[in-house]
Amino acid sequence: MFDYHVHSTFSVDCNIPMEKSCRAAIAAGVTEIAITDHVDHVPADPGFGFYRAEAYLEEVDRIRDLFAGELVVLRGAEIDFNESTIEHVERFTNEYGSQFDFVIGSVHYAPDGMMIFPDYFSERTLDDVFLPYLEQVQKAVETGWFDVIGHLDLPKRYAPKTHRDYDPARYRERLLPIFDAMIERGVGFEINTSGLRQTPRTSMPGPAVVRWYSDRGGRVITTGTDSHAAQTVGAGLQKTLDMLSLNGIDAVASFRARKASLVPIAALRPKEQ
Ligand SMILES: [Zn+2]
Ligand SMILES: [Zn+2]
Repeated sequence: MFDYHVHSTFSVDCNIPMEKSCRAAIAAGVTEIAITDHVDHVPADPGFGFYRAEAYLEEVDRIRDLFAGELVVLRGAEIDFNESTIEHVERFTNEYGSQFDFVIGSVHYAPDGMMIFPDYFSERTLDDVFLPYLEQVQKAVETGWFDVIGHLDLPKRYAPKTHRDYDPARYRERLLPIFDAMIERGVGFEINTSGLRQTPRTSMPGPAVVRWYSDRGGRVITTGTDSHAAQTVGAGLQKTLDMLSLNGIDAVASFRARKASLVPIAALRPKEQ
């Protein structure tokens, strides 16, 4: 199994060293891990200025060598994207993009600079949150700077009790041009299993969205736990492989030096199944 979304001490909101998560990964049956620390560009973000690319690259290479033969450790990043910081994101991707194996582009902020957290929903309808959010996602895809989009339907995770009527079908028409842009550029999305461990109790995105993407011809999907703690590394990945198989996806993407290859899900199953 591949866990392509794991944070380490290079993220402001995580205090788990890479080495600890790698040991947990091996114990959980993970064979490839991407350490995808936050690269934040919004000045108000707690992580602004925290990430140190050179130190990260040095450390991830040390860990890669330490686990050689036991676990594939990839140089990854989760880069925050939104229109207001596009020049900074561009500068970063120009400077460091080629140094990573795998880069997630994630939208965490609304276009007006507000973080998409529960408070953001007060005074707003689900559409008020989702439509501008998806607009940012579309722009992120169109830059071509990212290998996959992180937690594609993130707002559902932070929707407060007053906004729990989220139905992905409501945004199907809005997702189709995003899928088309993804397919055209070879960009994919991840299945982020962190949603299984908390509200909304489903992956981000869930099965319906996978089905629409696969019907549209999309094939590039990665799997990741978005772990900020060692005990969640690998969590929900087996279930995710089942979910993908049931929705027309028979392979998951593996990355090296920003190039995807598709690994059949059948090859990732434990032998006894
Ligand atoms: Zn994120
Ligand atoms: Zn993350």
